[in-house]
Amino acid sequence: MTDNYKQLVERISQSTKLSVEDIERRIEAKRAKLSGLISLEGAAHVIAAELGIGLEKQNYKISELNLGMRKVIVLGKIIQIYPVKTYKKNGREGEIGSFMIADETGNIRVVLWDTNHIKKIKDNELKEGEVVEIMNADVRGTMNKEIHLNSFSKLEKSSVQIENVIINKPQRNEQISKISELKPDSFSNLRGTIVQVFQPAFFNVCPNCNMKVSFENEKAICPRHELVTPKERAILNMVVDDGTETIRTIAFTDQINELYGMIEDVELLKDPSFNTSKRAEVLGKEFVFSGKTRHNALFDRTEFIINRVREANPEEVIAELSKTVKISSTN
Ligand SMILES: [Zn+2]
Repeated sequence: MTDNYKQLVERISQSTKLSVEDIERRIEAKRAKLSGLISLEGAAHVIAAELGIGLEKQNYKISELNLGMRKVIVLGKIIQIYPVKTYKKNGREGEIGSFMIADETGNIRVVLWDTNHIKKIKDNELKEGEVVEIMNADVRGTMNKEIHLNSFSKLEKSSVQIENVIINKPQRNEQISKISELKPDSFSNLRGTIVQVFQPAFFNVCPNCNMKVSFENEKAICPRHELVTPKERAILNMVVDDGTETIRTIAFTDQINELYGMIEDVELLKDPSFNTSKRAEVLGKEFVFSGKTRHNALFDRTEFIINRVREANPEEVIAELSKTVKISSTN
């Protein structure tokens, strides 16, 4: 039994006031239930989560929030409340509420799915200028990050004061940019043809926060969550050409799935014949890529990290072309 494990048990015991023996019993039971497929440490993390205890930092500034983070705690000042909207999905109607919060580091949209949370907007219980604490929420989104609350999340007013919040709203950029005009560290949409696809590479991340794990004695360590059972992710490099220039474009598992029209199966990407056939499908095809430009210092080149990818539809291309024609004819 490792020291790490003992520490974990003690921390759970301290936070829950349950005895060490009781917690160890729960961990053993959990492990037995999972047929010993997880380590004692892994089982301890599961028990901690079930008991609602965070074993790591979960309090974040808005700028620290990253896509894929779960169960985060955020404090923010409400800077704008949007009207509650209704939506229809699979014949069912639902409501969705949202507002923007800000702190000293940035601002982010908060999305509410739970009727109890939405009621707070409808009843004018929440007001612009007030500070709220959000707990147990997930960070999602495509072009912009968003905080999503489910029925297990908490949304409460806070007496904490936040001064000097950043209130300029993130610009939703729906326009298509030219590769030759891309600026580093900015979100944009590209429309271009895939002209080269490299072999996918694989790496391991933390299942909780998607950060890359390091290995010590064959155990996976997350910088935030300590010992974890890692998840394997794929990365795919491509070259995209839009007629102005080419750019090295990077897709991770979710984006590869969008591109290849598959559900998550990293193993499948290791199959050479599968790769060859998928590569042949996308090569020479035009797509719209949404994502962020970053400078790769190692290779001294600009790369485009894809957040979303979809096939360019012909009407869009025609609309864009006619726009160009219009502009040139007025000149
Ligand atoms: Zn982690």
